[in-house]
Amino acid sequence: MSRPIRSIIHYAALQHNLQMIQSKARNAKVWAVVKANAYGHGLQHVFEPFRAADGFALLDLNEAQQLREMGWRGPILLLEGIFEARDLEICSRLGLWHTVHNEAQIEMLSAHKTQQGHRVFLKLNAGMNRLGFEPRQFRSVYSRLNAIHQVEEISLLSHFARTETAEGVLESLRIFNDACRDLSGERSLSNSGAILAHQEVIAKEGLTDDWVRPGIALYGASPDSHIKSANDWGLRPAQSLRSQIIALQSVNVGDKVGYGPDHTAHEKMLIGIVACGYADGYPRAISQSAQVLYGEGGVRCNLFGRVSMDMLTVNLNPALAKGLQPRIGDQITLWGKTQQGVELSIDEVASHAGTIGYELMCAVAPRVSVEKDLDGFN
Ligand SMILES: *Cc1c(COP(=O)(O)O)cnc(C)c1O
Repeated sequence: MSRPIRSIIHYAALQHNLQMIQSKARNAKVWAVVKANAYGHGLQHVFEPFRAADGFALLDLNEAQQLREMGWRGPILLLEGIFEARDLEICSRLGLWHTVHNEAQIEMLSAHKTQQGHRVFLKLNAGMNRLGFEPRQFRSVYSRLNAIHQVEEISLLSHFARTETAEGVLESLRIFNDACRDLSGERSLSNSGAILAHQEVIAKEGLTDDWVRPGIALYGASPDSHIKSANDWGLRPAQSLRSQIIALQSVNVGDKVGYGPDHTAHEKMLIGIVACGYADGYPRAISQSAQVLYGEGGVRCNLFGRVSMDMLTVNLNPALAKGLQPRIGDQITLWGKTQQGVELSIDEVASHAGTIGYELMCAVAPRVSVEKDLDGFN
C-alpha cells in the first residue's frame, strides 16, 4: 500500500458550486477558470463536473490541448494570452481564444499567417497595474487590433484587484466604463469575489458582464474568507486532504515532541503521528493553533510540534476526552471533510499559516494520490 495520504476530489461539490455561480451570475456566460491544473484538483477531474460551463479559462497551452483531447469543443480562453509567436499556430489549430495585454502580442498577431480569424480579449489595466493596456491608450489599441485581418472579433476584459469592498470594485468599474463605453464587444469582468458579492454594483454602473470568470468559488473556498466564509456563501469544499495515524506516542509533562526545543508537553498527551508533511503540501509555517479532524466523527485536535517533511504530530487528548481510543490507521482530515461530512475549511487552515485557501489547494504535491468521490454526482 502507498502512503495513506489522499486528496479526495468531490465531483458533486464541483457541480454544485458551478450551479451556484451560474444562478448568481444570472444571464452571464461562465468561464470555469481551471488554471494551475484546476487549482490543484486535476483538469481530468473537473472536466466532467464543469461540462455545463460555457468555456474554460486557463494559462497553459498544454492544458488547453488536454481539454481538446478530452473532447471539449467549446471556447477556451488563454488568460495571459500567447508568450511567443508559435503559440499562435497552436491557437489557430486548437481554436483557442486569447487575451491581448501587451504590444508584443499585437506585433506577433499581425505577423501571423492564418486563414482563420482569431477571437481576442483585449485587456484593460483598470487599476491593478499587473496586465493590460492603460485606459488612455485603450481606444487606439482597439482600433489597431480591429484593423488587422488576423483578428475576427474583439472582446473586452479587465480584472478586479479589490473585491473585499464595493468601493474597490467601483473604482475599477469607473475606469472600465470611461475607457470602453462606446467600444463594441462582449465584456468579461468578474472573478469569484465580484460574482458573489458585487453583481448589483456592476449592474448599477450600467455594465453587462457577458462572461464571468469564477475560479476559487468553483472549488468551494472563499475569495475573501476574512469577510465571508465559503459556507456562508453556500459553497461546498471540493477537495479533502486526508491521511492516517501511523504511530502513537504517550508523552509526560516535560517531554518534547518533534524537531527543535519549542514543544514541551505541559500535560500528559497522546500524540498521533500523521503521514502528512510539508513535502505533501501542508504548510510548515502553520501555527500551533491550527487543527485537524480526528476520525470519521471529526473531533478537532490541535497540532503539537513542528510540521516536518513527511509527518506532523497532533494532540489527541480531545479524542480521549470523548471516550474514543485512537489507533494506528485511524483517519485524520487535514482540510475538507470527513467521510461523515464534518468540515474543516481550507480557508481556516490557511489562515493559521498566514496564507489563503488558493495557495494550499494549488500546493498539494504530486506524490499525494488523488481519489474520486462520485457520491451524489450525476
Ligand atoms: C485566476 C483568475 C480568475 C479567477 O479568480 P478567482 O479569484 O479564483 O475567482 C479570473 N480572472 C483572471 C484573469 C484570473 O487570472
